Amino acid sequence: MIIASNFKMNHTRKSTQEFLDKLSTVSTEHTIRVYPPCTALCANPIVGAQNGYPAVEGSYTAEIGLRQISEFGIDKILLGHSERRQFGESQEFIARKFDFYKNENFEIMYCIGEPLEVRKQSKEAVIAYLKQQLQGIDLEYERLIIAYEPVWAIGTGVSATIEEIRSTHDALRELTNKALLYGGSVKLENIAQICAIDNVDGCLIGTASWDVDNFIEMIKRV
Ligand code: PEP
Repeated sequence: MIIASNFKMNHTRKSTQEFLDKLSTVSTEHTIRVYPPCTALCANPIVGAQNGYPAVEGSYTAEIGLRQISEFGIDKILLGHSERRQFGESQEFIARKFDFYKNENFEIMYCIGEPLEVRKQSKEAVIAYLKQQLQGIDLEYERLIIAYEPVWAIGTGVSATIEEIRSTHDALRELTNKALLYGGSVKLENIAQICAIDNVDGCLIGTASWDVDNFIEMIKRV
């Protein structure tokens, strides 16, 4: 299983280091990933960047590119998160980032997920929506991980149901053989059940992962 923590805009350099130090005392067979904010990036094999501009460097105010990310030896990145999409990142731009970091052989945690109005329409509408978010994405890319994160489940405390996760992951499995993570209000109480679903290869966790003790306990429950 792959268990990943997306810090979003939480934690500082100091608290990220404390988090990683404590996490390193845990032995687990699972693959762990941590995506801190860019100010807290550090040389650690489980750390990835939350974002990256599709260029080595240049005049892109407030962005970070390959030069800044790889200074830490980091070769992992999270792309397509719904919060970035809500900030206005188009599918075309996200696909450009994907291509850029793919060409640099980065491990890419690629996020997709539908809004509530689409989920309310039908299962077919959800799959059609997710397929749009996979446009321009090489589903054969060796270092690809896909995180299915319904927008309405992110940070709301309301996870998708087991049946919703199962049917969506089954449909995604028909499109790719890459690891499929679920994200959206995963917590201590539901992580074991979610990870036990067929075609769920792990979880991407926001809120419930920011406390290192809780994150460690979640890893242990999987
Ligand atoms: C996320 O934003 O990637 C996420 C899964 O958040 P949360 O766990 O808080 O729903």
